[in-house]
Amino acid sequence: MLDLAIIGGGPAGLTAGLYATRGGLKEVVMFEKGMPGGQITSSSEIENYPGVLEVMSGMDLMQHWPQQCMRFGLKHRMDEVSRVSKREDGVFEVSLLGGEVVEAKSVIVCTGSTPRRSGVRGESLFFGRGVSTCATCDGFFYKNQEVAVLGGGDTALEEALYLANICSKVYLIHRRDEFRASPVTVEKVKNNQKIELVLNSVVDEIAGDDSGVNSIYVEDKHGNKRDIRVPGIFVFVGMDVNNQILMQEDGSALCKLSENGNVIVDLKMHTSVEGLFAAGDLRIDASKQVVCAAGDGATAGIQALEYVNE
Ligand code: FAD
Ligand code: NAP
Repeated sequence: MLDLAIIGGGPAGLTAGLYATRGGLKEVVMFEKGMPGGQITSSSEIENYPGVLEVMSGMDLMQHWPQQCMRFGLKHRMDEVSRVSKREDGVFEVSLLGGEVVEAKSVIVCTGSTPRRSGVRGESLFFGRGVSTCATCDGFFYKNQEVAVLGGGDTALEEALYLANICSKVYLIHRRDEFRASPVTVEKVKNNQKIELVLNSVVDEIAGDDSGVNSIYVEDKHGNKRDIRVPGIFVFVGMDVNNQILMQEDGSALCKLSENGNVIVDLKMHTSVEGLFAAGDLRIDASKQVVCAAGDGATAGIQALEYVNE
């Protein structure tokens, strides 16, 4: 039986493994369905990881993490987990897609979240080359330039305000004329001189060339078409929390989730189930940054160590 099963090999999962094994846990396996590194490996540039002066790709940033984390005994299995359950005797069962079931004394879930795609033509083609889902990460690359934001929720409006501090102009494109975001945020957006509201409008296509995005083709509900010439568009049309592995056969969740599906944890990354921890983007109130996910992972690793040793 494993001392600890870690699900997900992004910054949170890798760091959890580092702290748990370096702290003395012997049988620790990290299940990662792809290559370790997490969603940041899809980012072309990261410049806000503390202590790293060089601007580098997400892939380069994560390159040495697995090696460092596995130095103390963490094992990696390239497997997709389909479910995590807890038996009455307190043992966790980690079910793998192939049908194998692995037993573990404790589990840390670090499966992250996935920014939802809008499905607009050109979005996938230009993802990372003008299409972004992270203003904190990529906004600075458009300093003093015009950009577009797609969406009408809290994230879209808050990020539009953030981008307006950096960029010369922000076109906020939303399919309705009412926002899902909170009224206070809507008011701030409406009062911001640098934000132009493009309402009742859908994006027909994100267009560009070899160097990236250069145009957003928009159509309003009356059929009027418009070509917004910008080098970047930020898509904020909701997040999909990767919580599926917590869903049990009867449809209930293994531990308490928020309304949005994020795992509810306390400051020590404990979930509502003893021996089950969650870390990184998946948890409630996550800041959705590499450094924060790594911090969560360290906390969860230390707590799992304590739980197993007790
Ligand atoms: P993730 O990185 O999402 O890792 C989760 C891992 O779990 C993935 O590797 C996934 O394959 C695996 N997984 C999921 N389900 C299963 C399963 N069932 N079985 C096995 N494995 C599974 N942050 C910054 O700090 N600075 C930036 O500049 C920055 N830029 C970004 C740019 C882009 C394009 C994106 C998408 C994000 C960016 N972020 C940035 C955010 C940052 O990447 C995330 O906050 C961070 O990666 C979250 O780490 P995590 O470990 O919680 O989850
Ligand atoms: P969200 O509330 O689900 O909003 C998504 C927005 O994208 C909606 O305006 C939606 O339009 C639009 N949209 C969805 N699919 C689209 C598509 N294919 N094309 C174009 N537009 C599309 O997501 P979110 O803003 O990420 O917020 C998620 C949750 O976190 C919410 O509960 C939110 O309140 C919360 N949150 C809170 C705060 C805060 O409290 N400060 C900050 C951020 C997020 P419609 O409105 O027409 O459906």
